[in-house]
Amino acid sequence: MTTAENDDLRSKPRQWDDEYEVVVLGAGAAGLTAAIVSAIENKRTLLIEKSDQIGGTSALSSGSAWIPNNAYQRHSGITGDARAAMAYLDALVGDRSNRKLREEFISAGPDMLEYLERHIDLRWLMYDVQPDYDQKLPGATIGGRALMPLPFDGRTLGKDFDRVRGPIPEFMLFGGMMITRGEAARLLRIGRNVDSFVLGARLCSRYILDRMRYKRGTRLVLGNALVANLFKNLLDRQATIWYKAKTTRLISQDGRACGLVVQRDGSEVRVFAKQGIILAGGGFPASPELRERYFPRPVAQYTSAYEGCTGDTLLLAQEIGAVLGSPGEDNALWFPSSIATRKDESTAVYPHIVLDRAKPGLIAVNSRGRRFSDEASSYHEFVRAMYRSNRNVPSIPAWLICDRRFVWKYGIGMILPLTLFLKPFVKRGYLHVADSVEELARKIGVDAAGLVETVSSHNEFARTGVDLDFGKGSNAYDRAYGDPEHLPNPCLGPINRPPFCAVAVLPTPLGTSLGLLTNAYAQVLESSGQPIEGLYACGNDMQNIFGGEYPGPGAQIGVGMAFGYLATKHAIGRI
Ligand SMILES: Cc1cc2nc3c(=O)[nH]c(=O)nc-3n(C[C@H](O)[C@H](O)[C@H](O)COP(=O)(O)OP(=O)(O)OC[C@H]3O[C@@H](n4cnc5c(N)ncnc54)[C@H](O)[C@@H]3O)c2cc1C
Repeated sequence: MTTAENDDLRSKPRQWDDEYEVVVLGAGAAGLTAAIVSAIENKRTLLIEKSDQIGGTSALSSGSAWIPNNAYQRHSGITGDARAAMAYLDALVGDRSNRKLREEFISAGPDMLEYLERHIDLRWLMYDVQPDYDQKLPGATIGGRALMPLPFDGRTLGKDFDRVRGPIPEFMLFGGMMITRGEAARLLRIGRNVDSFVLGARLCSRYILDRMRYKRGTRLVLGNALVANLFKNLLDRQATIWYKAKTTRLISQDGRACGLVVQRDGSEVRVFAKQGIILAGGGFPASPELRERYFPRPVAQYTSAYEGCTGDTLLLAQEIGAVLGSPGEDNALWFPSSIATRKDESTAVYPHIVLDRAKPGLIAVNSRGRRFSDEASSYHEFVRAMYRSNRNVPSIPAWLICDRRFVWKYGIGMILPLTLFLKPFVKRGYLHVADSVEELARKIGVDAAGLVETVSSHNEFARTGVDLDFGKGSNAYDRAYGDPEHLPNPCLGPINRPPFCAVAVLPTPLGTSLGLLTNAYAQVLESSGQPIEGLYACGNDMQNIFGGEYPGPGAQIGVGMAFGYLATKHAIGRI
């Protein structure tokens, strides 16, 4: 916007079409948190979402929030976690990010949880075992920091239920029923256990009733439960929500961000934001141009994040003087994902988060048929290992290798456990199957001698329970996602019963770590380090406070919600 235009707006205030105290761009976990805090504080609140549904990537996610030193830990007798978490983050992140922001997170995270519980009764379940991702560092914990949102009844939203973005289709049963990982594990014992049978009967009968009236099940869990809950509370407080609204400009006057120009229903609306504009557009994982500019080579072509997270908000902010933080090692947070074409020709990007890689009887190899990583390491570190290996040996895609017995017992990627027929997956090119390891290697274009040797030495590790190459199953994080009934190592099992199977995985960003530079109150900064008054960023729009590292399960949503809370509190003068 030119100075003349800004002067024009200042001298003719009537040119504003609408006025709010707080305006939030983006209805993911971070933006919804910022908006609900504003609404709770009785501020005139406008939430602008560019798509026709709320939720963004947060709706697709597991919804875990990593909040050290939370009240649930204290209720279970865990104390002193603030100090331990800072030690852990210092060791993991070092000087790759501003320590002040990490300190603010450790202090604001629990405040945010208590505030939301007090005002809107948002409650969580603490995972006793959900280990931090780098167990060798001081201050790493086995559980307690990661919280799971409680299930939410989508029926309470009435017609607005359709406004909640659905999860990744492959994460639902029967085309529309959501379950948690814990429930999935219980359902797998359905033939052996009365409790599991009762759970299955309860979930299925609710689902059948739901499908008579709704397009999908209304018992929401994981990220869907979180965003739907925040959304319901926003509706109850009569916050204004604009869907399919495109912000074309931010307006600043005298160095203060004070308004926006929004395209809505075919017309242009000028909105005055009296106390703050909060950017929460979810970063740029879905922008091919920005991925090309900031990502390592080969550049990821797919993402499991929501397709609307294209970095528009970052560009809007840069037009009024905001700057991005320092680029990091890769500027992304990663999942290894397998890709498939669905029946309706859409592309499924299936993230291999924790269900298969850690289980006994699976290895990951590069084009030489060699392992390059502890397969059970965190998704972020696994992809980083793919890139490291790729410097010397083509390792993108990498191949997950197992046998049919493994697929039956644990599933692999989109293929659920107990799947009888693999042919449909083979036909679609998702799964490759062969009667010998050599033949499998030839089918997938991997060095056959290398793969035979790797499988054979891995089978020896499975026998002894010690992975001499990469230590799979040697730490609490790995073991948490292995098979506890499998001994001597819950993550190591032989690959020796034909047919043998392979699935390709690629690096896909689940979010981005390069974002707008902010201070500890989420105020967006200029290159001079001065805050742009009135402008805030949170969630993936904010430069990652962990310097691109991934400390533990829920680190994205935990930080996004904490800084969404802080941004609004600061904008309205409550801190
Ligand atoms: C399968 C999966 C599982 C995951 N599980 C977890 C987990 O359990 N815990 C965790 O911490 N992280 C998880 N993540 C990562 C996490 O979901 C995201 O990093 C996080 O949800 C991002 O939140 P956000 O609020 O920044 O953005 P989003 O939730 O993506 O929301 C951004 C919203 O902004 C909208 N928007 C974009 N531009 C504009 C604009 N210009 N104007 C208006 N609106 C705009 C988008 O349409 C979108 O609705 C997971 C990711 C995936 C893909």
